[in-house]
Amino acid sequence: MILDISKILLTKGEEVPFYFEEELCFDNFNGQRELCFNKPAKFSGTIENVSGILYMSGKLEASVDLKCDRCGQNIENEYMFLVEEAFSSTEAVDDEEIRHIKGKQVDLSPILREAMLMQLPTKILCDNDCKGLCDCCGANLNNESCECNTEKINPAFASLKNLKFD
Ligand SMILES: [Zn+2]
Ligand SMILES: [Zn+2]
Repeated sequence: MILDISKILLTKGEEVPFYFEEELCFDNFNGQRELCFNKPAKFSGTIENVSGILYMSGKLEASVDLKCDRCGQNIENEYMFLVEEAFSSTEAVDDEEIRHIKGKQVDLSPILREAMLMQLPTKILCDNDCKGLCDCCGANLNNESCECNTEKINPAFASLKNLKFD
């Protein structure tokens, strides 16, 4: 996904909209070897030239399959990510928040990837009540029960078992 900034670079004070709808894949994403969007990724927003610094603000709509952290099942999710980024083509700007760019094109893929990694929930679950996999046999406890001892109780909570609620 390439953003052409040749025009906006020349027009200070201008703000122009952009819209992309493209196939998008990331390598090595969040523990997955490859993450490809289920539908073309939609990325839309505006880019503004403020005294030579380009401010991009957009939103990325992504439909992706991510693995449940508990049971490993693939789950399709629709996400919306906000992406804000500032660019400058002059070396003189020394600000960590501002990405230095060479040339007239910006590859948006690494920027989108970063935004997604920052904004994804820390735990991805197929369901809040996902029972996960059995520690001993690996059975997916959402679909089947296994013969292993399921009465194992975390010692920290063992005493709670005898509590009575009136
Ligand atoms: Zn799950
Ligand atoms: Zn088991």
